[in-house]
Amino acid sequence: MTGQPQASPPAGSHQKPSVDPATLQHADLLEGEFWRRIPAWSEISDIQFRDHHWQAKNSITKVPQLLAALQGLVSEEFIADVAEGFRRAPMTIRVSPYVLSLIDWNAPLKDPLRTQFIPLGSRLRPDHPKLGLDSLHERADMPVPGLTHRYPDKALFLALDTCPVYCRFCTRSYAVGLDTDEVQKFHLRATPDRWRQVFDYIGSRPSSRTSWSRVATRTSCAPTRSRSSAKPCSPCRTSAGSGTRPRVPRSCRRSS
Ligand code: SF4
Repeated sequence: MTGQPQASPPAGSHQKPSVDPATLQHADLLEGEFWRRIPAWSEISDIQFRDHHWQAKNSITKVPQLLAALQGLVSEEFIADVAEGFRRAPMTIRVSPYVLSLIDWNAPLKDPLRTQFIPLGSRLRPDHPKLGLDSLHERADMPVPGLTHRYPDKALFLALDTCPVYCRFCTRSYAVGLDTDEVQKFHLRATPDRWRQVFDYIGSRPSSRTSWSRVATRTSCAPTRSRSSAKPCSPCRTSAGSGTRPRVPRSCRRSS
């Protein structure tokens, strides 16, 4: 921490101390055409890169695509480590050009965004005996697939089972994304039938109706990169579906 000592709020106050701007470097976003250092996007213009349609269309969704994009940026040893990481991971890959461009490929082992989105086989640890994919036990509180109703007047609705990016630490890896070699997912596709079950259930709870506006749909983490540092976001809080128990993976999901 740097900067001036902060003035303390008056005793008994709920005010927070003022913040030293020097501690907010993580909010100071990268500028310039930083994506051009990735060979695959070296010719992409500023307008193209900032177009969310282009980002979605060019997101990497297959491991060979990723390995091809990394060629020339990292060593062959690192690429083999990534391939092994995905082979044993509970999440498939989905990473946008924006996120991939923010990673410091000169130091990928310690880059926090790389850690969040790209597993390494060498960093995997043996499973803890208590390992469970649904660590928040969301499915135990699902009256219908995709709606977690844990509190009387609040619920979480997982409208989809996909995200713009897939995080390694996802607490909903039992449902989010495609099947992997290790995990058979409980899929929660956005179908009219499933959504109808959710809406019917909400409609069947008139005593909670005044607060059903608190039903939260899925959102996703939004990683950003500052000039001087990067911090991955906390996992978003979403819900996922009930149903068959996914196969418990053999290898640990914790990597760094
Ligand atoms: S964005 Fe949220 S739900 Fe999606 S993979 Fe990441 S942590 Fe999981």
